[in-house]
Amino acid sequence: MAEFDETFDWVVVGSGAGSVSSALLMKHAGKSVVILEKAPVFGGSTAKSGGVMWIPNNRFMEPGEDSEDKAIAYLDAVVQDSPEFPGTSPEKRRTFVREAPKMLDFVVGQGVDLERCSKFWPDYYDELPGGVKTSRTVSAKPFNKNELPGGWGKKIRKGMLEMPVKLDDGMQFANLNRSWAVRGLFAKTAAKVVMGKALGQQWVSAGAALQGRMLKALLEKDAADVRLDSPVNEIIMDGDKAVGVVTVKNGKPWRIGANIGILLNAGGFGHNPEMRKQFLPKSDIAWTNSIESSTGDMHLEVERIGGKLAQMTQMVGHPTSRSPGFDDMYMKTGMQNVGAKPHAILVDQSGMRYMNEASSYEHICQTMMERDDVVPAIPSWIVMDSQFMIKFPMAEKMGSRIPKKWRETGWLKEGRTLEELAGKIGVPADALKATVDRFNGFVDAGLDADFQRGNDRAYSGYLGDTLAEPGPGRTLGKIEKGPFYAVECIPGDVDTYGGVLIDNDARVLKADGSPFGNLYACGITTASIMGDVYPGAGASIGPSMTFGWIAAKHAAGLGNQDLS
Ligand SMILES: Cc1cc2nc3c(=O)[nH]c(=O)nc-3n(C[C@H](O)[C@H](O)[C@H](O)COP(=O)(O)OP(=O)(O)OC[C@H]3O[C@@H](n4cnc5c(N)ncnc54)[C@H](O)[C@@H]3O)c2cc1C
Repeated sequence: MAEFDETFDWVVVGSGAGSVSSALLMKHAGKSVVILEKAPVFGGSTAKSGGVMWIPNNRFMEPGEDSEDKAIAYLDAVVQDSPEFPGTSPEKRRTFVREAPKMLDFVVGQGVDLERCSKFWPDYYDELPGGVKTSRTVSAKPFNKNELPGGWGKKIRKGMLEMPVKLDDGMQFANLNRSWAVRGLFAKTAAKVVMGKALGQQWVSAGAALQGRMLKALLEKDAADVRLDSPVNEIIMDGDKAVGVVTVKNGKPWRIGANIGILLNAGGFGHNPEMRKQFLPKSDIAWTNSIESSTGDMHLEVERIGGKLAQMTQMVGHPTSRSPGFDDMYMKTGMQNVGAKPHAILVDQSGMRYMNEASSYEHICQTMMERDDVVPAIPSWIVMDSQFMIKFPMAEKMGSRIPKKWRETGWLKEGRTLEELAGKIGVPADALKATVDRFNGFVDAGLDADFQRGNDRAYSGYLGDTLAEPGPGRTLGKIEKGPFYAVECIPGDVDTYGGVLIDNDARVLKADGSPFGNLYACGITTASIMGDVYPGAGASIGPSMTFGWIAAKHAAGLGNQDLS
């Protein structure tokens, strides 16, 4: 038998979304928990993120707006079942749809203040059966980190929106120059920021608010011993059963035993150069938004003990562009909304359009990488005209004035005519001209006959000009007024999406398909239950929290108890 320096009932590796939902449940079941986090800060990629959870049929939706059957129909329509994607199955998706709203009720019941993120953030394939054109998204209310005791406020990982504003409202600031209502909202938020600063408050929104609120519930309930700077380097096995882990304490190996289970929630492999080269060769490590500690440690450890990795070529793509200052950016420049706006299209290096530009970030990058196998498409080019430039935001530009450095660095390509622009980006001029003429014809007809941009789903309109009337005009607009512009678009990511295989109880599977004893996993350490598809905003965090909770329920023997 292994000797341990210390023993807990439930040992959690990593401090992401599912770690906390599992720990709260274990506390409820009277079990002791330790959370071991490799980084010097708490919260994982979840804290850096938008903090949006995709939770179908959730408590914040209107009666009749959603149902288990509708959500199952949607996932069955959008997710492919094939041997290539063993991380998903109809039964696993049903488990998620059934358990996710219960998990949410439980977490809210533990004092975590959540809300509907938005009334209009449609599913990414809302035209399919069961798709929702409103929103299935949930997020945390903004959070003042001073509410955390014992200096923990300074130990939450930096977020993407550090101010007292609801995420959905913050996203509307993109229309600041075009809407008095948004200006009013901005002024109100600015006043709150000034007031908060004067009072010494530390407001955060999005993922940092989610993880701040989750940590607060954990600490108030004394639900877990949370340890930072505590990497797990080894899973200790007794035959096929996981019995403990080796971490580090005071610079020395420290062995912790686990009475009822170990949960692996150690994030993805976005920052592991070798794994990236092997599995995601078309997406450079310099383009990722994933956190530096996402190095696939538990992917490799599970492989070492006889588990199997799957769906490893999947990532949650984030169309980006190397705008000035790119290498030092905490959040890499986002390009998804740019190509989806009127007066803009995306073309490959032969000058051809090859997708519906008003698609999910994951779909755009996946399509770009697939296209690149056929025609050079990395980088692709977002081509736009002066109407776009005057009207819409891009990178740090909010109004119509083009930042000087865009031209100085050569990031922005410019031509008085399309032919001149084509020369600047190395694309055949006649092909680019023909593509634009064809697109302009679709705009006149109000129908994109090639890719159905703007005709097929509410989500296209969400990405387009949200101040315009609903309809194709939100995303379709002619490219006709010079000067013409182009910027590159490359497939970055917000995280990886492949990993270890788990069963419906979140137990990690051996290569032969049977579960290890006492070993569980959730989040992006696992092969996504969505296969190669991103069905809606929050499809990483929602499942992480749900399967972390399912794992704890199983390990604590709580079965089908009503825990809400
Ligand atoms: C800018 C941005 C915005 C995003 N927005 C959203 C969104 O709104 N909704 C959504 O669903 N997804 C979003 N994503 C993706 C999402 O954030 C992540 O995929 C998700 O948070 C992963 O959660 P997790 O629970 O799997 O792990 P994480 O939150 O990444 O946590 C894993 C933790 O494990 C730790 N760890 C790693 N190795 C070890 C080890 N050996 N020992 C101990 N600890 C270890 C890591 O340091 C990390 O803290 C976004 C990502 C980014 C970057």
